[in-house]
Amino acid sequence: MGHPRVDAIAREAREAIAAAGSSAELEAIRVRFLGRGGALTQLLRSLGVLPAGERPSVGAAANEAKRELEALLETGLAEALETERRRLRARERQDLTLPGRRPPWGSLHPLSRVHDEIVSIFMGLGFSVVLGPEIESDYNNFEALNIPRDHPARDMQDTFYLSEDTLLRTHTSPVQIRAMQVQRPPVRIIVPGRVYRRDVPDMSHSPVFHQVEGLAVDRDISMADLKGTLELFAHEMFGPGSRIRFRPSFFPFTEPSAEVDVRCFICGGAGCRTCKQSGWLEILGSGMVHPQVLRNVGYDPEEVTGWAFGMGIERVAMLRYGIDDIRLFFENDLRFLRQFA
Ligand SMILES: [Zn+2]
Repeated sequence: MGHPRVDAIAREAREAIAAAGSSAELEAIRVRFLGRGGALTQLLRSLGVLPAGERPSVGAAANEAKRELEALLETGLAEALETERRRLRARERQDLTLPGRRPPWGSLHPLSRVHDEIVSIFMGLGFSVVLGPEIESDYNNFEALNIPRDHPARDMQDTFYLSEDTLLRTHTSPVQIRAMQVQRPPVRIIVPGRVYRRDVPDMSHSPVFHQVEGLAVDRDISMADLKGTLELFAHEMFGPGSRIRFRPSFFPFTEPSAEVDVRCFICGGAGCRTCKQSGWLEILGSGMVHPQVLRNVGYDPEEVTGWAFGMGIERVAMLRYGIDDIRLFFENDLRFLRQFA
C-alpha cells in the first residue's frame, strides 16, 4: 500500500543507499532520511495536517518504508564496515620478504683492537689495569723514575711542559710510581694510556701516541719471570710459534735493561723489508726496576724486586696490520678505518 510522497522518499533513499561507498556515507543517509530532521521523520510528524481519511494509509506506508530503510542501512553498514576492515588489514600487513634497511656498522679503531688484546692477555695472567692522569708532575714523570733534573736522559724525551713542575706525561711509567705509593707488594699491574712527546709528525712519529706499561714487584722476582711473562705474551699476541730475544739496553729506571724483539712474523725470521733483513722486530723496552725507584716509593730493595716493561700500541698495530705511517691512526680517514671492519 503505497503513497506517492512516501514512495518518492523511499526510492530516493534506496538509490542513495545502493550508491553509498562507505560506512560514513551510509551514516549520512540515515541522518538525512531517518534522523530527527530527516525526510521520513518529518513526514510521520506531519500526519496530523493530512485529511483524516488519508492518515492511516500514509502512516502505515511511512512506517513500512522506515522499517525497510532501517534494514537496508543495517545490512549496508555491516558490509561497508567489513570491507573497510579488510582494506585496513591489507594496508597494514607486512611484507616479510622485503629486505630490511641495514644500519651502517661501526668498527673498533685498530688501536683499540690492539689495546684490548694486550690488556686482555695480561689480565689473563693475573695483572690488573691501572690508569693515571695525562697531566703529571715533573716528579712522577722524571725524578721518581731516577731521572733527576740534570740527567742526560731528559734530553731523550722532548717534553710538553705546562708549568715548571707539570707536564703532559711522556710515558706511562709515572703510573708505576702512583701505584706503588699507595700499594704494598705484591704489585702486578698494566697501565695503558696516551702519552705525549714534542715530535714533529712524520711516518714514524706522532706528538701523541699510546703505551702499555707493565709492572710486577714481589719477593724474589727475577729477570727469568720477566722473560717467561713476555714469552707467554708473544705467543698470545703474535702466534704460538713466536720467539723473543733480549738485547742489553739502557733506561734510567731499570737495571739491568733490555730491548725485547719478537721474531719477524712476516718473513718468519728469514729477513724482509719490515724487519730490515734482521729477522727480528723490536717491540718493547724492559728491565728490572732500579733499586732507587723502589726506594723512592718507600719499598726496600733488599726485600722486594720487580720488573717493568713499556710498549707502544701504535708500534704493535703497525706491525700486526702492515701499516707504514703512524699518522694514519689519527687522521680518521674512513677509507683507512673501514679496512678494520
Ligand atoms: Zn721480516
